Formats: sequence, structure tokens, C-alpha cells
Amino acid sequence: MDDCIFCKIGSGELPSTKLYEDDRFLAFLDIQPVSLGHALVIPKEHYQDISQVPEGLLGGLFGLARCLGDETIAETGAAGFNIVVNRGVAAGQVVMHAHVHVIPREPDDGLKHWPKKDIPEEDRERLAAALRDRLG
Ligand code: 5GP
Ligand code: ZN
Repeated sequence: MDDCIFCKIGSGELPSTKLYEDDRFLAFLDIQPVSLGHALVIPKEHYQDISQVPEGLLGGLFGLARCLGDETIAETGAAGFNIVVNRGVAAGQVVMHAHVHVIPREPDDGLKHWPKKDIPEEDRERLAAALRDRLG
């Protein structure tokens, strides 16, 4: 897509520190990493967010993310990794081309998970029933 920074990175029109590439996917280092090895995996085709990525691409996309995380552990001795997808602006998505973050982690590296929130039990149950119907 014109004006999409990750389309341009995917096509090679803009530079990136590439880690892996095939005809469908590209993995490259995040320009503003939260840890050493923080990488992004994208489909080369433009989809604005993860919800738009066709089912047939999802396995490859997440398989590559996991493989990259495992190989990063093998190379650096990182203790673990987060695979993160921000879907939508409210969820923190800034680049509107679907991408998966792979974030290597160390014990006590200072990165925090989300704070917990008290959700009324009736709201939880109502939503769970509705989602069971939808997914059923
Ligand atoms: P989001 O918040 O959309 O899930 O994350 C977008 C990520 O893309 C951010 O972590 C940001 O640092 C990274 N990013 C934005 N522009 C560029 C770029 O031009 N090159 C690279 N390598 N990463 C980018
Ligand atoms: Zn794009």
C-alpha cells in the first residue's frame, strides 16, 4: 500500500535490519527496541491489522515469530520472550500494517505486565456466555 512504512520495508524500498525473509514474510529488528533482539515479523502483503490477516497466513506468521524467539534464546541466552500483537489504536497499534512483536526477556528486566482490574462477576459470565455462542 502506498504510504505504508512496513510495505516499503517489506519490499526493500526502505532499509531495515533483516533477520529472515521469504516470499511471504519478513522479520527485522525494531528501530526502537524495548530489549536487545526486539524484532517484528510482518506479512509482506498489506493488512491493516492482525484481524485482517487471512487464516492461511497466520500459522506461518506466528510460526516464524516463535522460531525467531527460540533462535534468539539459542543465540543470546535470553531467558524467554513475549510474542505481542497490538490490534487497533486503543491497543497501542501505531503502524497500521499487521505485525507481531518478538521481545526477548530477562528475569527482572523491568518490563511490566498489565495491572489487574476488578471486573464484576456478572459481566464476566455474561461475556463468556456470549463468546461461547459466537465461537460455538
Ligand atoms: P505498534 O505499536 O504499532 O505495535 O509497533 C510498531 C513498532 O514499529 C514500534 O515498536 C516501532 O518502534 C517500530 N517501528 C516504527 N517505524 C519503524 C521503522 O521505520 N523501522 C523499524 N525497524 N521499526 C519501526
Ligand atoms: Zn503495509
